Amino acid sequence: MDTSRLIRNVANAVNLSSVLGLVLGVAGRGRLRRRGHLLVFENVRLSFINASAMTVGDVVLVPGRTIEEVERRVPDLMAHEEAHAWQYAYCLGLPFIPLYALAAGWSMFRSGDRATANHFEVQADLLKGGYAVGTKRPISQAWRRRADRAA
Ligand SMILES: [Zn+2]
Repeated sequence: MDTSRLIRNVANAVNLSSVLGLVLGVAGRGRLRRRGHLLVFENVRLSFINASAMTVGDVVLVPGRTIEEVERRVPDLMAHEEAHAWQYAYCLGLPFIPLYALAAGWSMFRSGDRATANHFEVQADLLKGGYAVGTKRPISQAWRRRADRAA
């Protein structure tokens, strides 16, 4: 028995993040499967997911495909998504969502994409998530680019 993952499953149920994941999976009419200590909804129809998969608590939402179809392109995807499940637990659940949005905004500022300088994506391993690793700009240069665009 994997005690640490079981504790995470309980934590993400109590902090309601997995409950939100289940609601989204049902709303997106996905097919439910179990993968280790994660629940996977495949062929989810939710237009706001613009990635190979999105994890909410211990629930992985896979838009428009099966997990095997995605894994052919991104073999380590489930390891990446499992890291996000741990991040929900240490963020005490739903606070992960605004924190992730902030981290994605910071990454856009620093690199021009939402993953390269995003703490959560870097910690989950960009390559395992199928992301191309971009280049981070020095903060002064990123600030100048932003000022130039505003002018
Ligand atoms: Zn990710």
